[in-house]
Parts: sequence; C-alpha cells; structure tokens
Amino acid sequence: MDIEILAVGGYNEFGRNMTAVRCGKEIIIFDMGIRLDSLMMHPEMELENTHSLDLIQMGVIPDDTAMNQLEGTVKAIILSHGHLDHLGAVPKLAHRYNAPILGTPYTIELVKQQIEGEKKFGVNNKLIALKYGQRYNISNILSMEFVRTQHSIIDTATVALYTPKGAIIYALDFKLDRNPVLGEPPDFAKFKKIGNEGVLCLITESTNVNRKGRCPSEQIAKSMVRDVMTSYEDDKNAIIVSTFASHIARVKTIAECANEIGRKPLLLGRSMERYCVTAEQMKLVRFPDTTSVFGNRRVVERTLRRLIKTGKDQYVPIVTGHQGEPGSILTRIAQNDTPYRIERGDKVMISAQLIPNDMNRAQRYRMFTLLKGQGARLFDELHVSGHAYCEDHYEFIHLLNPQYIVSAHGGIDLTSEYLDLAREMGYTLNKDFFLMTNGQRQKLA
Ligand SMILES: [Zn+2]
Repeated sequence: MDIEILAVGGYNEFGRNMTAVRCGKEIIIFDMGIRLDSLMMHPEMELENTHSLDLIQMGVIPDDTAMNQLEGTVKAIILSHGHLDHLGAVPKLAHRYNAPILGTPYTIELVKQQIEGEKKFGVNNKLIALKYGQRYNISNILSMEFVRTQHSIIDTATVALYTPKGAIIYALDFKLDRNPVLGEPPDFAKFKKIGNEGVLCLITESTNVNRKGRCPSEQIAKSMVRDVMTSYEDDKNAIIVSTFASHIARVKTIAECANEIGRKPLLLGRSMERYCVTAEQMKLVRFPDTTSVFGNRRVVERTLRRLIKTGKDQYVPIVTGHQGEPGSILTRIAQNDTPYRIERGDKVMISAQLIPNDMNRAQRYRMFTLLKGQGARLFDELHVSGHAYCEDHYEFIHLLNPQYIVSAHGGIDLTSEYLDLAREMGYTLNKDFFLMTNGQRQKLA
C-alpha cells in the first residue's frame, strides 16, 4: 500500500489548516479551518451566507479543489481541536465528502454549533465524538485514536492514525504542559508506546519552534493574573479583564481570582457565552457559583448599566476585545459606546498576546490610547502560549521517533525553523523531512 500526504491549507500561511493523507485508495482529512486575518479583510461579509468558492478565492478557507489530485475515497474527517483555524471551514466544505466527522466531545459540540449557524450549505455528515484513547476503526485497514495533549482550548487531541505501514501522527496544535490548570497532562506513556510500535510520519505544528527552551505552564499565566488581581491599590476601582473566549482554563483562572477578592465574575459577549456555557454544560469546567454569563448584546448593555449603579468594585467583567477588534466589548467601552465609564485608576487587564498582524497592531494601539486617555491602568500580555517551544518539540520527536517529519501551520519562515531542529536530530531535507506548500503532494511509502 502506498501512502502520500497532500498539503491543502495552512502550509504557506498561518490559518485555514487542512491536510489529507491517502493510504492506498482511502483518504483521511485532518482539520478544515479558516484563516481569520483573511476574514478580517472583508468586514462587510457574512461568513454564514457566503459560498465556499468565493471564500477559497479570498483565502479564507482551504482550497480543497487540490483534493481532485488524489485518487481514492475520503473515509473520515478528523478534527484536532475546537479553534476556528482548525474547524471553521467544516460548514463550507464537509458536505462535499461522504464521510463522518470525528472529534473529541467538546470539539464535536463546537462544530455542531458552527454547522447549525451555516445558511448556505446543509452539512449532514455524521458527527462522532470519541474520548481520548478510544480506538475507532475507520476501515478494514485504518484505525485511529485521539491522544490527550494540552493547548489553549480544552479537549485538544493529537491524532494517531494507524496504517499498515505505521502510525501517522497529526500534532496541530499542542503544548507539553505537565502542570495544566484544567484537564490532565499530555499522555506521555501513550506517545512513548506509539513511538515504540513505529511512527511512519509526524505532521507537526511549528508555531513556536523558534522560541528557546520549553513553553511555560498555564500555571505561570495563573500566577501572573492572580498577582495583578490581588494587589491592593484598587479596592474601589474597576477591574476589567479580556482574554480568549475559547481559553476555558484562563477564563476559569480569572473568574476564580475575582471570586477570591470578593467580586462577582461576569462573562460578557457572545463568544464568551458559547465557549464557556458549552464547556460548563458538558461538565468540563466549573466556574465559581457567583459567576454569571450574558451573551446577547442588549443584555450586555443592561448588565453594564446595572453594574455602574451597584458599583464597579462589586464585579469583574471578563470580556472579548483583547485585540482591539471593532465591535467587541472592550473596544466599545474604550470608545464610550456602552453605559460603562472608565475612570482614573480603573484596571484593564489583557490576558492574551497580540496576534501579530498590522491590523491588530493598529486597532489595539487605538484602543489602548483611548483607555489610557480616560485614566485606565493597563496590564498587557498576562499570558503564556499554548504552543510547544523548541525543546518541547525535541522531546516530542524523541518520544515518537518518526521515520518522516512534515512541519506545518505557518509559512516557510516558521516551518523552516523546524528544519533546523530536525537537522540537529539527524533528519535531512527532502529525504526524511519535508517542507510543503499548499496543493503539494509528498509520497512516503
Ligand atoms: Zn489551536
């Protein structure tokens, strides 16, 4: 049986991840994501109403016409985790394949909501939720399982696809956090076992491979947030925190710190509601009992008005808008577009890093300047990454000992940084290490 990899999306760029693997006549797809910065270029466009061919042209979703190169039948679409750059294109593309969609329970719940929101296409693929370690037979020759790992969203998995020629490991995205705030550490024993049994190929993210050492644990972010929230200078002042709505562990940390200082956590915004309520309903997280959640814009306005009346020092609003996105709550607060008023000494905390593109830089600069002009004290970058650093990748290669490596998730600048590491470990470019571009195929065995 011959095996080849097709890079569909996310290889010349950051976002819209999609990879296909053909084993004989059977094809497996890993992820179907969107590219958020391309989407931001078209603020007037309604994603749910736009046709996939237009979205491909705009570079928002992967160009899956490349799939026509492969001879065979798609047997499964496997989703690694719930981030939009990994599953956001499912409502636009999945209906073209007569195959089930596999994911961990939280990922499947999120993709179900995405599909329900779609207005252009009817996606009726069967959705199958699998727990970590649950072996699933895709066909007579292929099976798979999700291996537990850590990232910046709960229920993230590294995918092990078992073929007659060895396992293919799809590791987008991950961090090897041994002290996570939520969930269990990665399943190192399983990775080791898979490595011993034989790994044909590792397809891996390369986001932070240029950073030395190991990625700090989420516990470090918890300490950073707690340090700022429990300090004494602002007994009467407001504390507002913005973070990623999908980063459930971080939201939990912030809500718990708020509770600790006697303030009620308020989760505000549609995405905050969607990710956090879904996680809580699935019993994947427990927020303090004092927590409330409001998603609807009008209810958010009403809540902010009430909050001004009862006293800003009673609450900690946890809001969207850490990148200065137009229309987000923090941006609207900065612009005085809500009933909330920033006063001298109010604390605004950003528990996120800048997602580095020029649009975010400009929007964030504007928001920070407006907030500062009203007397806010700003705390930025109270954050640790959810992506493995160089020495994490080194450890991971050691655990798995793959015959071939393909580095993905980033342009050539990032994926070639991975090449440096792989070279140090004895791999050779174009022999057993491959840098791929969108639309390109690579035979393995
Ligand atoms: Zn991710």
